[in-house]
Amino acid sequence: MENTAAATSSNFIKHIVTEDLNTGKVKEIVTRFPPEPNGYLHIGHAKSICLNFELADEFKGRTNLRLDDTNPLKEDAEYVQAIKEDVKWLGFEWDGLFFASDYFEEMYERAVRLIRKGAAYVCDLSADEIRETRGTLTQPGQDSPHRGRSVEENLDLFARMRAGEFKDGQKVLRAKIDMASPNINLRDPVLYRIAHAIHHNTGDKWCIYPMYAFAHPLEDAIEGVTHSICTLEFEDQRPFYDWVIAECEMESQPKQYEFARLNITNTVMSKRKLKLLVDESVVDGWDDPRMPTISGLRRKGFTPEAIRAFCREIGVSRSNSLVDSRNLDFFIREDLKLKAPRTMAVLQPLKVVITNYPEGQIEQLEAENNTEAPEMGNRHIPFSREIYIEQDDFMEEPPKGYHRLYPGNEVRLKHAYFIKCQEVIKDADGNVIELRCTYDPETKSGSGFTGRKVKGTIHWIEATQAAPAEFRLFEPILNDDAEDDGEGSFLEHINPNSLEVLQGFVEPQLGSAKPQDKFQFFRHGYFNVDSKYTTAGKPVFNRIVSLKSSFDAGKGK
Ligand code: ATP
Ligand code: MG
Repeated sequence: MENTAAATSSNFIKHIVTEDLNTGKVKEIVTRFPPEPNGYLHIGHAKSICLNFELADEFKGRTNLRLDDTNPLKEDAEYVQAIKEDVKWLGFEWDGLFFASDYFEEMYERAVRLIRKGAAYVCDLSADEIRETRGTLTQPGQDSPHRGRSVEENLDLFARMRAGEFKDGQKVLRAKIDMASPNINLRDPVLYRIAHAIHHNTGDKWCIYPMYAFAHPLEDAIEGVTHSICTLEFEDQRPFYDWVIAECEMESQPKQYEFARLNITNTVMSKRKLKLLVDESVVDGWDDPRMPTISGLRRKGFTPEAIRAFCREIGVSRSNSLVDSRNLDFFIREDLKLKAPRTMAVLQPLKVVITNYPEGQIEQLEAENNTEAPEMGNRHIPFSREIYIEQDDFMEEPPKGYHRLYPGNEVRLKHAYFIKCQEVIKDADGNVIELRCTYDPETKSGSGFTGRKVKGTIHWIEATQAAPAEFRLFEPILNDDAEDDGEGSFLEHINPNSLEVLQGFVEPQLGSAKPQDKFQFFRHGYFNVDSKYTTAGKPVFNRIVSLKSSFDAGKGK
């Protein structure tokens, strides 16, 4: 992994900002994060959030959170709430909280101004007809038959559009630019459409709504944004962005800059597709731990620090790339390494009876909470005649090189004693249901015993005081990086094994773990207490990430 400081030290947008401040082109930088409230934010948005907020922080400027709510059909107050929560949780404070819909009146007036100067007209063509007459990359478009309408007629029709005289799709307002422009975005793009719908903010006050490409530059200008940062697919829109600012005679002159979207392997990164996963019940909600949403990552157990460090590491560039999801894992391990207590958990229990251990006796063994962070202190772990070990840590007929438990073999119990497998108990079907072992009291952990060595160390939980727990292990939601045909074909690439639920045990004190508490379970990885399924008596642990080393590294196979 690259040195993060080096990766953040600069990016092309910082160079531009530095230059603009040095030349006096801008006095103070103002950025904005402008999500449309049509879904929950994902890790791609986190990249944009970090970029905008950190840029303004570094240059002592301001950042607005602006809800770009110009499409009443897809937007919802629930999403507005979730977006605010996620930005705050990431650790950012916005200077202004704005809604694009607060500017509808001003946008309308600017559109009227365009009509007055002959730069916009009302067009009766349907959406299909507009598409068909737009031309192609090699052919110019055709003028609309309504392009020659007089200013008076346009003013009248636009006012009547607003007044609700027409049905959805019957009329639109278009910019009058150039149907032969080599940039298709300049071939009389639509500025306003009719939609008789209830808007989450303005209710039924409006039945015409500005198109994104027209609204966005106006929103930026109204707020005095200086650097309007968006993703690369808007590059071809930049000339229209500048046209809107100039023709609408905005006092403030924001400039648009584009950077590459973040894409991550084996998942989808679009609110529309993520909504499909929710609507089709592939996941249990926007915050399902398998989702690449900020709320999903939070519920899985990611921390804001880890996400921010990841965003810094991937940096900002103008070339699109696909980032391996394991990069994200690296940062959460780094963040939790010294923060999370290290305890034991048995995910798939197998009962072990230690036949030579006194019946009814429970002793308290001492263990460090985090060997790399001694300040986290020690704890006591009960030990008795009955314990659980991991089913995987026993094999009746082990392959060569297997150093865990098998008949006649001796292993170390982490923090406790050596035990030796003496007898295997099976049910009528031949399944192993219990092991009988003996222990050697001389071998107590910390006693300095050097009499002999064993090759395997396994973890365990004392059976009578064990706290029952559920464990949820995740795999990527998609089998591969599915291309989408726009019809939701990526749904065919869903990984059927993306969730595995296991019932096991944790150390007694973890029975009362609270949602969002995080732990490292010896050999299993980092886990977070789930906020949805955890009940008073039974914690549910989501695996955030396995340990970096493979399950058995250094511990014998
Ligand atoms: P989606 O398709 O997921 O809805 P969007 O780009 O339509 O994404 P917006 O709500 O418009 O979503 O996005 C708000 C801001 O976040 C925009 O400035 C957008 O460029 C940025 N953004 C969205 N997705 C990504 C991504 N994958 N990587 C980086 N920035 C992104
Ligand atoms: Mg969108």
